[in-house]
Amino acid sequence: MKKQTYFAYGLCFILALGVCSALAADRRPTYSSEMKMAREAVRKAFSEIGLQKGDDNLLVLTNAGYGQIGPQTSEPFLDIARETTGCSIGTRSLLAVHKSINDPLWCSIFRKDTSKLIFLRWTGQGFAQQVVDASPERILTPEGWKTAAAGLISQNLFSVVSISLTWAAGPPWPLLQAATFHDHFCPGVNAGYVIGEYCRDKMALGPGEQYVFVTAPAICPADALQVIFNTTAGKSSGYAMYLAPKLLAKYEKDKVQPVTIAMRVNRKADLCEGIVFGFDWNKAYADTHVKADEITPQGGPGNPMFWIARVKMSRELARLPRERLLGYIVELKRFTGNARLADEIASGDPYALLWNR
Ligand SMILES: [Zn+2]
Repeated sequence: MKKQTYFAYGLCFILALGVCSALAADRRPTYSSEMKMAREAVRKAFSEIGLQKGDDNLLVLTNAGYGQIGPQTSEPFLDIARETTGCSIGTRSLLAVHKSINDPLWCSIFRKDTSKLIFLRWTGQGFAQQVVDASPERILTPEGWKTAAAGLISQNLFSVVSISLTWAAGPPWPLLQAATFHDHFCPGVNAGYVIGEYCRDKMALGPGEQYVFVTAPAICPADALQVIFNTTAGKSSGYAMYLAPKLLAKYEKDKVQPVTIAMRVNRKADLCEGIVFGFDWNKAYADTHVKADEITPQGGPGNPMFWIARVKMSRELARLPRERLLGYIVELKRFTGNARLADEIASGDPYALLWNR
């Protein structure tokens, strides 16, 4: 083959590549009729919110990518929301909230300057919307909370309000990510994040080392640690288990109970170093002006104060400087052992109970 022919083939190849990448850049999805309804719904809500695309005051939350529109998955809505509102993941203004595949698609648009919030959700035939006054002085009162919760937003009120109001306080990205995975902001997520920061400071990983976390009782900090360090149950690095309050109290020191065990494990060197962490909630209550009995009010989750106190405290914790937060961490115990110790700490035979019944 002559040199010119090679050149011609080469040129064609480069042109074809160029056309392909141009097509890729312009790739347009074909939306189902339901997804077009979702686009109309978010356009309508956005026009009512009264801000320009991409305004700094905007936050869009959605369960798109997790929830569905009937049998359809909802990931196209992430693009629709971005195009309609100008909000994006990279500017922390479009956040996907982890929810079940069984949940209908929803979206909220919040503007932090006026605290106006518009929530829309798939109802089975179409999209309905609710306007919520999410100003702290209104929504963080039993009356305001009950009124909002009686509407379309219903069970999603805690997710949407806790994330929107805490987002407005400017939390660091890993904490925001933990909250979206956990599906809400609550003080336990903040505590998990702070424990993670403490580990990075005081028990940083070297080559060949990994973290293993065992959280007991199995509550909120477990989710934060899992997301921040990718320490998942499926990779034998994140465990959470139930522990009766009576048992937990046995390990209490100066009114601080254990929250989680963090271990730095080097399988090759056969080493495990760990810390049993407690979190000084009393200090955190004092700094955030939230009282312990507001967190556990009479009536439990049936009492709006249960949710309101969590939002208030999470938001206040997100505002505090890192050094202050690290001051809540209590090392209840330090230990070392073989790498196998991490597996032993995380083990127990859950089947034994059932087989020996
Ligand atoms: Zn929680």
